[in-house]
Amino acid sequence: MDDKIGHRIYSCFQCRTPLSRHDDIVSKSFQSTKGRAFLFSHVMNTKTGPQEDRQLITGLHLVADVNCADCGVSLGWKYEKAYEESQKYKEGKVVLEKIKIVEEKGYQVFS
Ligand SMILES: [Zn+2]
Repeated sequence: MDDKIGHRIYSCFQCRTPLSRHDDIVSKSFQSTKGRAFLFSHVMNTKTGPQEDRQLITGLHLVADVNCADCGVSLGWKYEKAYEESQKYKEGKVVLEKIKIVEEKGYQVFS
């Protein structure tokens, strides 16, 4: 059974809104222009901006900026579509910059 007590979560560094669970991390080895970033399979309490094609190190992607739904701070980006076959696994997933998130213990914040 799923033990809800003691889940490690990530929250917004500015307003502490819960954004994602440690369990939802797909990769910790992402890099943004500002430093290290994590890839999450899904996040919550975020807003996504307009989609645009962006040339990244790993190729052309359709991405959207991701902001905190509560305080509005920029957190990272979402991969809406990957054009390279080898990058398809990123579609629908979200990158949050490590400096924008805080790891803490969550207590039933996710239902
Ligand atoms: Zn926030």
